[in-house]
Amino acid sequence: MRAVDIIIKKRDGLELTTEEIQTFIRGYSTGEIPDYQAAAWAMAVILNGMSDRETTDLTLAMVASGDQIDLSSVVPIAVDKHSTGGVGDKTTLVTGPIVAACGLPVGKMSGRGLGFSGGTLDKMESIDGYQCQLSPETIMKQLGEIGIVLAGQTGDLAPADGKLYALRDVTGTVPSIPLIASSIMSKKIAAGAHKIVLDVKTGVGAFMENLEEANALAKLMVSIGQLSGREVVALLSDMNQPLGEAVGNALELKEAVETLQGGGPEDFLEHCLVVASHMLVLGQKAADLVAGREMAETALSDGSALAKFKQLVGAQGGSLDQIEDLSLLPTATFISSLNSQETGWVSEVNARIVGETSVMLGAGRQKKTDSIDHAVGIMVHIKVGDEVKQGDALFTIHANRNETLQEAMRMLTMAVKISDRAVEPLPLFYGVIS
Ligand code: URA
Repeated sequence: MRAVDIIIKKRDGLELTTEEIQTFIRGYSTGEIPDYQAAAWAMAVILNGMSDRETTDLTLAMVASGDQIDLSSVVPIAVDKHSTGGVGDKTTLVTGPIVAACGLPVGKMSGRGLGFSGGTLDKMESIDGYQCQLSPETIMKQLGEIGIVLAGQTGDLAPADGKLYALRDVTGTVPSIPLIASSIMSKKIAAGAHKIVLDVKTGVGAFMENLEEANALAKLMVSIGQLSGREVVALLSDMNQPLGEAVGNALELKEAVETLQGGGPEDFLEHCLVVASHMLVLGQKAADLVAGREMAETALSDGSALAKFKQLVGAQGGSLDQIEDLSLLPTATFISSLNSQETGWVSEVNARIVGETSVMLGAGRQKKTDSIDHAVGIMVHIKVGDEVKQGDALFTIHANRNETLQEAMRMLTMAVKISDRAVEPLPLFYGVIS
């Protein structure tokens, strides 16, 4: 079976067999199928889609490209959460430690930045020394010892997704229900958590722009999880405007730590408390969402969630000095604000433009081999519905080059719309699928 025939079949809109999908994924992960053929295939999938059966086969083929961890030998129940990708979405950095501090082990395999959306691993690597590449043995040991692991794909766990994810990031092949569903669920199944909360984003700053598509993606992932014996709940959440204030790796890490310290932006804190409550209920630590929320709030107020975060950073080799003193995190050379030209009510803070600006500044990758700049990013000072006056700061830009600073000013001017009438705030969540 030749790779080119599989590409042609998908290009022509036909359904691939299980064997064809397995052959293609095996060939790509061993290196027999080169990047250019995988990119062509991914583009054909974007354009022609996949049936639910093909998507399930693709997920299982990516799981089979590496090892699968069985966490049952170290903890009775482990929970995981995953976002489909957004702008300013540093939820894992707060919910993971909260839930682990409540006594529910969190075993999470995360991803890097993808397109205009940020990635948990890139944010955590703002901390000097933080190690994302852990062997399955280390993941199991750490989970048993401290109840939390936040790692990336290794050569051993869903390596096919690791390769394909990096390729999709730079070939315009991210926004596809089958590719996103299989990417996320292959990582979740390989990493072995028994219960999974999915945060499915919808809006201009999400890969699924409308609620209907987000709903379809959520339902498909829940059913793939069930087929693999996992209990999955999917939340549908807003990504029209950035979540919280910080966008960019070290800035987001700082905001997450401030939230764990009892501060943080209101919308971000609320989002984290809702996600954490669902994780605690699904993991059978809380009887219902009200009890889950109380536990999560206590873990924040008594400092145990922050202590758990520090334990996680220490266990994975990160510098605790930078967490104790956030000013030691990477900082940018040029810090400048963009002010409002108008007075009125904010009717749009376009998350996609903010995300693309952050990538342009260097916080994300434009080519597979790019290294990222942890220091750069944007602080967003407004939310839809806020009243602003002429001269108020809308954004603070953190750049390392004067040219990118100027370009960010230009791009961000287009991200905001001001209305002369009062505007309703956006909801945080649109629904739950279980
Ligand atoms: N997150 C993932 O892990 N994969 C995707 O394709 C999108 C978001």
